[in-house]
Amino acid sequence: MVDHPLAWLDAHADARRAAGLRRELRPRPAGEPGIDLAGNDYLGLTSDPRVVAGGIEALRTWGAGSTGSRLVTGTTALHAELERELAAFCGVESALVFSSGYAANLGALTALSGPGSLIVSDVANHASLVDACRLSRARIVVADGPAAVDAALAARTESRALVVTDSVNSVDGGLAPLRALHEVSRARGALLVVDEAHGLGVCGPGGRGLLAGVGLAGADDVVATVTLSKALGSQGGAVLGPAAVTAHLVDTARSFIFDTGLAPACVGSALAALRVLAATPSLPGAVLRAAADLAAAAGVPVPESSVVSVVLGEPERALAAARRCAELGVRVGCFRPPSVPVGTSRLRLTARATLTGDELAHVRAVLAEVLAPAAAR
Ligand code: PMP
Repeated sequence: MVDHPLAWLDAHADARRAAGLRRELRPRPAGEPGIDLAGNDYLGLTSDPRVVAGGIEALRTWGAGSTGSRLVTGTTALHAELERELAAFCGVESALVFSSGYAANLGALTALSGPGSLIVSDVANHASLVDACRLSRARIVVADGPAAVDAALAARTESRALVVTDSVNSVDGGLAPLRALHEVSRARGALLVVDEAHGLGVCGPGGRGLLAGVGLAGADDVVATVTLSKALGSQGGAVLGPAAVTAHLVDTARSFIFDTGLAPACVGSALAALRVLAATPSLPGAVLRAAADLAAAAGVPVPESSVVSVVLGEPERALAAARRCAELGVRVGCFRPPSVPVGTSRLRLTARATLTGDELAHVRAVLAEVLAPAAAR
């Protein structure tokens, strides 16, 4: 008698339940009342009529799907337009659109490294960068800060090396020391790859990203990746950098070549959102002000990004706090292991440029109740 090949799943689920780590997929009703501090729609563009119209027009012109991989039939004139405008906005030579930020990270890291090269990966990197490192078959060194990066680069035997970091940490909202990382990378002949998923639209002049904010936009030894699904309110991703890099990715990045091109509606919406952002340079300041208000309401330090992190400790406490917030009409993110280290389960509040004064006042009242010390409740 052999076991069913999935017999182990029940015991696995029980262990996750006992550890407070079961997840639920809860469909979000359209027009759900309440205040959303859980999504990544930092600029409030996902339902902006101009952005929705951009998607509809693209859908009408090009159809529901892109019909094939980018190299066959999946590149429309709209894809090329988005790539041109993204590159111009971010101050880089070239941009290449992928079907997601995840796919952009996989493509960039696997195509720019490989067996016989080294990747120095920041200790707090997003899972998509971690997965990209694993897939690359490069030697990986996990490093925490510029000194550790420098040491890893100095000790290498490989001729080619990449230094990889998020510009804005997706969980705690902290900023990477990009200038120092660039200095050590350049001195050691390594390429700096920066994931600007949470930087685009929020950091830097007019939301051009943290690289632009520290004067590194367009540097010839820097590559950036972005997602179109956060500040730009759509879906998809892109790699930005020297034209030689994007040309190399077109020929060699497997997550570009073997993936269907991004759907036209997503391209049209992202392009419309990018144009709104370019025409409204006050938007990033508005989201940073909202983040400062949320941080003050939660009693935590003000971030230089749109992500406010409220560490509560055990997963049960974070989950109970998130549920209570939801009951009181405020949706917040709840991060538990393995997304964060054990003992640092937390609420993650994301600011939005369009949060109103009334909404902020309600959030303040809700957080005052939910985060009050146990004795005071
Ligand atoms: N990088 C970071 C830092 C992210 O937070 C995310 C999304 N959670 C991604 C990459 C992946 O982007 P996408 O959702 O477009 O695949």
